[in-house]
Amino acid sequence: MKPKTKLIHLGRGDQSAEVRSVNPTLMRASTILFKDHATWQKYRELRKNERVLSYGARGTATNFELEKLICELEGGYRAQLFPTGLAALAMVLLNYASKNAHFLITDAIYGPVRTICDKFLEKIGVEVDFLKADASDVEEKIKPNTKLILCESPGSILYEIIDLPKLCKIAHSHNIPVAIDNTYSSGYFLNPLELGVDISVIAATKYLSGHSDVTMGIVVCNQKEWKNFNELPEAFGFTTSPDDVYLVLRGVRTLDVRMKAHEKSADEIVEFLKTRKEIKTIFYPKLKSHPNHEIFIRDHKGANGMITIEFNDGYDQNDAIAFVDYLKYFSIGAS
Ligand SMILES: *Cc1c(COP(=O)(O)O)cnc(C)c1O
Repeated sequence: MKPKTKLIHLGRGDQSAEVRSVNPTLMRASTILFKDHATWQKYRELRKNERVLSYGARGTATNFELEKLICELEGGYRAQLFPTGLAALAMVLLNYASKNAHFLITDAIYGPVRTICDKFLEKIGVEVDFLKADASDVEEKIKPNTKLILCESPGSILYEIIDLPKLCKIAHSHNIPVAIDNTYSSGYFLNPLELGVDISVIAATKYLSGHSDVTMGIVVCNQKEWKNFNELPEAFGFTTSPDDVYLVLRGVRTLDVRMKAHEKSADEIVEFLKTRKEIKTIFYPKLKSHPNHEIFIRDHKGANGMITIEFNDGYDQNDAIAFVDYLKYFSIGAS
């Protein structure tokens, strides 16, 4: 299946029934009932390794459909839903945290990740160092106790590009797993697991849901790094509402159409911005002038519509604010 075929045909529930609805059932549940004690016991065992119904907080049939779809899209072994993208990132960090562990995180990581490092990881004895946004200094920053590398490419805000196959090769030669925040490409423009990355995190809040009415995060792993990610939601009381999952499943159907439209609009806006004397730099990875543009083109199928601009000398912050407030169809806001 091509990715756009997967988007349309996967995550639809049991397709074998003679009569069925197009969409999967929305299953809301806390308590799940078992036929007898032996069955209950059996499912307690099964759930350690398999995606089975056992308790609502661990996900229902609706959640499982989205997990299966995103897992297929990213080419992973398993996927786990979390209530927000940030929660998914936090759980990745926590899953590798141990006393005296060392993490490396690229500088252009989604900002709030730094709060997790400063306020919590340090307290439990995890040391965090930041790499350059393009991870070019990884070799010299690795320590014997480095347990995880977390990166983001294109990076948040300025879209710095990482040579992921190169980064993974170095990391794996030291037995260090690599995780990426893949929200930029959202299982569509980049397949990090194919390039050697072990764990992909996507804030479904953004492109996967696509309609600004739900928050959600997803962790997709290869088999090697699938370490109790499915136990984290219950261990920490994180659950993802099946209603929200239903919205993401519905949003995902149009991902192919929306991503292409985002890219086309951004291309046109970039062309316009290029003609403006007020603009000093346009940060957009499709531009030939963008640092590591050739790596972006090699690994990505497209750009997601995000653009960052820097005003020319002679314009100050008040001018930038005036610009934002003067826009008619763009609003100021997060996500
Ligand atoms: C928004 C975002 C997140 C966090 O997602 P939430 O669902 O808002 O917590 C993480 N990473 C990136 C790159 C994002 O843009």
